Formats: sequence, C-alpha cells, structure tokens
Amino acid sequence: MALKHIEKRIDKVLKKGQVGSPIQPVRMERDSKFKFRCYPGIKCFTKCCRNMNIILTPYDIVRLKHRLGITSDMFLRLYTEPELLGITQVPVARLKMLEDRGGRCPFVTKDGCQVYTDRPVCCRYYPVGLASLRQAEKSSGDEEEFFFLVKEDHCKGFEEDTEWTVESWRADQESDFYDRMNRDWMELILRKKSFGEETEMPERAKELFFMVSTNMERFRSFIFESRFIDTYSVDSRLLREILEDDVALMQFGFEYLKVAIFGAESDKLKLREDILDATVKKIIKRRKKRRRRLQRLTKGRK
Ligand code: SF4
Ligand code: SF4
Repeated sequence: MALKHIEKRIDKVLKKGQVGSPIQPVRMERDSKFKFRCYPGIKCFTKCCRNMNIILTPYDIVRLKHRLGITSDMFLRLYTEPELLGITQVPVARLKMLEDRGGRCPFVTKDGCQVYTDRPVCCRYYPVGLASLRQAEKSSGDEEEFFFLVKEDHCKGFEEDTEWTVESWRADQESDFYDRMNRDWMELILRKKSFGEETEMPERAKELFFMVSTNMERFRSFIFESRFIDTYSVDSRLLREILEDDVALMQFGFEYLKVAIFGAESDKLKLREDILDATVKKIIKRRKKRRRRLQRLTKGRK
C-alpha cells in the first residue's frame, strides 16, 4: 500500500475524534508523552466501569475464569452475551453490563475492580487507544500501527501530574503482553475481514470459531473425545501440554482454526495421510460428477 494511502487512512481514524468524540485527533507514537493517573480516591473512581462495550478476547476469558475459579461454560453463562462482530460477523463474547445496576460492570465495587490483575485487555488500554492498519496479507509488509488518547469528560486522570510515554503506559498495564497472547486470534479476524462482507461464515464454522475461542473445556473434549486425533497428526508432547494447560490449548486452537476454517497449512497439525487421500478422492469424484452434469446440460441445449 502506498504511503499516501496509509496516511489517508490514519487521517480517517483520527478524524473520528473531531466532533464531540473523546478520541483526541493527534497521532501518537510509542515515545509520545502524556500525563495521567488513576487511583482509588480520585473523584471519578470507577465511573468509567459502566456501559462499556468490552469484547472479551480468548486470553481474557482464560484469565478471568481461572481468577473466578469457574468453568468456561459457567463464565460465559454468568458474565457474557454472544455477539457477531461488525462486518466480519465473527462470533465473539461480550462482557455483560448489569442493566439493573445502572449498566455497571459485574466486577466493579466501590473499592474498585475485583478482578484487577486479570482485567480484560480493553480495560488495560484506556486511555491509550491503538489503531492498527495492518493488512491481513502480511507478506505485503504494509503494517501501520499508531496510538491516540481517549479523553472521556468524566475522567479526572488527565488532571494528574504523572507522566508516561505510550510505551511505559502499555508496559505498566501489560497491554503488549496481552496483545501478544491474542495476536493469532486477531490475525484470524483480519483474515476473515479480508475476504469481504459478502463471504459469510457458514454456521458450522461460526460454532467452531466460538467454541475454540471461548471455551477451553469444550475444545479439550472435542480434541480428546472426538475423531480429532484420528483425523489430524499432532506431536504427542504438544498433546500432553494441551491436555493440562489452557493457554497452550488456546494457542493450539488458533492454529486449528487457521487450518479448519481458512484452509491454511500448519506445522503443528496436519491431516493424516489416509484422511488426506480420502478427502482428495472425494473432491475429485465430486468434480467429475459436476463436469458430467455440465456436459449433459450443454448437450441438451444444442
Ligand atoms: S473489568 Fe474491572 S476495570 Fe474493566 S470495566 Fe470491569 S471493573 Fe472496570
Ligand atoms: S474515570 Fe479515569 S481516572 Fe477515573 S477511575 Fe476511570 S480511568 Fe481512572
């Protein structure tokens, strides 16, 4: 993508901040400075923890359900609602705000966030937004990332004197670490976006995507109690790891979705030779059948 085009897209993102929006129309880099401090006792404490649109990433869910000591099923049922994401229609889980408590987050109390050290990545970003103009076709090398401030009227944190750079803020909030954990999942969503609006995800693919990105127990049963292991060849050490460890399983899940939904190749799981042969035979048979039908149709027209 030409530099001029990238600049145009950056302007478009920042323009959103010009009329009554909390987004400040200034592009920031990792070394850009700003002043901010949030602490118990500040006048606006916890005011921001309501009516938020928080899409939970797979890593958010793993951390939160461990923190609460419940299963993914239970977590999803108690704290989330399903949503189809924008034009991609990718199914995701959104943190359910409590309508009967003024739209408050279920984890906020007067003392602050009850899951603070495991809070979702979205809560870690504020007040530094990230705009990624990364293209799905990474090979083109066209990646552009920049930051901007989000200044909500009610947020008094900007009146404080503590100075940060974008870099030091993100390190303090562990945002970079969370982004790394979710990177492959984000890639999948970008990949879907690059196929365009018109290529709707089949229902079965949506179900699979949702299960793999939100529910580690179900995904684990799917691997070890279905025909998965007869279908794919996976290193036994990796299998042992994903049997025990949710984060390893989650990363493996991203790889599996890449293969199963987007038809990509993976070093970590490959279709077994006999299954591959049978699939190829099935495709050839189907194509031959289609060709014969087409020939019959064209003959009939002559
Ligand atoms: S998870 Fe914590 S930080 Fe995030 S909105 Fe809820 S209470 Fe606030
Ligand atoms: S409104 Fe701003 S300063 Fe106040 S609690 Fe929320 S993030 Fe912190």
